Amino acid sequence: MPVLCGKCHSANAEVHIPYAKLSLCPKCFLDFYVRRVKGAVEDFGMFKEDDVVGVAVSGGKDSAALLHALRQAYPNLKVVALHVNLGIPKYSAHCQAKVEELTKMLDVELHVFNIVKELGIRISDFRKTVFRKKVCSACGTVKRHVFEDLARKAGVDVLATGHNLDDVAGVMFNNFFYGRWDQLVRLKPVLPPLAEGFASKVKPLIRISENENLLYCLYGDVPFREIDCPYSSGTGVRKRAEILEILSRDNPYFRHQVLNRFLELIPLLENVVSKPALVKCQVCGFPSSSDVCAFCKRVALVKKALGKG
Ligand code: SF4
Ligand code: ZN
Repeated sequence: MPVLCGKCHSANAEVHIPYAKLSLCPKCFLDFYVRRVKGAVEDFGMFKEDDVVGVAVSGGKDSAALLHALRQAYPNLKVVALHVNLGIPKYSAHCQAKVEELTKMLDVELHVFNIVKELGIRISDFRKTVFRKKVCSACGTVKRHVFEDLARKAGVDVLATGHNLDDVAGVMFNNFFYGRWDQLVRLKPVLPPLAEGFASKVKPLIRISENENLLYCLYGDVPFREIDCPYSSGTGVRKRAEILEILSRDNPYFRHQVLNRFLELIPLLENVVSKPALVKCQVCGFPSSSDVCAFCKRVALVKKALGKG
């Protein structure tokens, strides 16, 4: 016997949300999701309705769902989409095409930074450097820097990213095990600007699981990428996800509990974690803890490997 939706009581339920003890039809699930995003924005004071919000869109389901849901939740908010084309053969062109399709559908302005055109490098080129087995680590540094730069140039007050509950709870766990307290603190839902003129950073999907983002895209006809990055072996990420999955089996609220406990811990940690004094990077002028920032060091490394340095 089909189960009726716990909200509208008329359509058949297709999605079970264990932590909310709810079974919903697709339409009520989409409403539930948008309300959850709005709830996080309001509970954590992520932005004001007159702020310009930039959404970092990769082409993946999380950031696609985020941009779509913010448009539904705040139709009058000034939202712009920011995308970094990483120059990864086939993959990056596919991601950009999906982002263009999404922003056109939502009538959202799109700003793209193409690292091949702007920097003369591709993320794939890191394989020719000491980062050969850690391309994702170098890629993360490049993306963080370029999104900051794109946000600044687009006049963005608040930069929203698609970090989901599984990502954040997994990374929190990992940083806890390895005692990386400074990195644990950086997982806060709202981070202040790096310096004057930079955007603050927010994670509106921090309470929403990866699976809910996928369902939102599927039920809401939200375009997102259909191929994986060739460098996403993600062993560490997968292991973390498996551990959280095992721990969540008997307790569907487990990831939320991890998040909530760490969010309680972060203000205490902030008092003891020393913040490095920031200087201006001698190359790009961004705030940096050393004379040359991590981004400029990595770009120089690739250029040297390519014989362009
Ligand atoms: Fe970058 Fe790694 Fe993600 Fe590929 S999988 S886009 S290399 S972070
Ligand atoms: Zn720099």
